Amino acid sequence: MSSFKKGGIFILSSPSGAGKTTLVKKISKNRNFSISISHTTRSPRPNEKNGKDYFFISKNNFKKLIKKGEFLEHAKVFDNYYGSSKKLVNEKINKGKNIIFDIDWQGTRQIKNKNLKYKLLTIFILPPSKSELLKRLLKREKKNMKTVKKRMKEFKKDLLKWKEYDFVVINDKLNLCYKKIMKVIKNKGKFSFDRNFINKHVKSLLN
Ligand code: ADP
Ligand code: 5GP
Repeated sequence: MSSFKKGGIFILSSPSGAGKTTLVKKISKNRNFSISISHTTRSPRPNEKNGKDYFFISKNNFKKLIKKGEFLEHAKVFDNYYGSSKKLVNEKINKGKNIIFDIDWQGTRQIKNKNLKYKLLTIFILPPSKSELLKRLLKREKKNMKTVKKRMKEFKKDLLKWKEYDFVVINDKLNLCYKKIMKVIKNKGKFSFDRNFINKHVKSLLN
């Protein structure tokens, strides 16, 4: 990886509720960074806007888009379909924009396997603790226990995917985590993280 000045792909993944959407939005405020707005069959949350947070579409329309080959990647997550539009990504990246993706490990695998000509950096976000993750999910989902339970159920499976990512970071204090990510992004691909420490942290989350 030479430089991330122009036209790179940055993927953020995490167990649901760890904070990747918050971080993606913060990163996108930097000049020349743009979010890949996904399509989803999930219903919008009260604060979400069509075309800004997601393109909210029906299952039928989603299936049509799959058939037409419109997705760079797509996956079923928590009973809903999510996908990244090839066209939207290409339009932005060909203008030299850095594109930030908030997608799960299935989509990340698909993009990695495509060996695209663009620089690619994958980042995995961990919560500081399981209790804090639950707290964040309860806050965001307005205590909708069905949704919270479903997401907590997938937590362990998602967590174990951290090993597939280039950089892994704990989102405890938001600003600190954001700064760490920006440092890695600006560091022209030269970075490292303490694997042993992360491994121990993951084990503590699994207990
Ligand atoms: P994800 O996209 O990983 O599912 P979100 O970005 O939606 O997670 O964050 C889940 C909730 O946690 C949101 O209410 C968000 O405001 C909050 N949150 C995110 N990062 C932090 C943090 N570092 N400290 C406290 N709350 C946070
Ligand atoms: P949420 O419903 O909380 O917005 O997202 C649920 C999960 O779907 C998160 O892990 C999020 O990263 C993932 N996701 C969102 N958009 C996409 C996408 O376009 N493709 C894939 N593969 N996952 C996505």
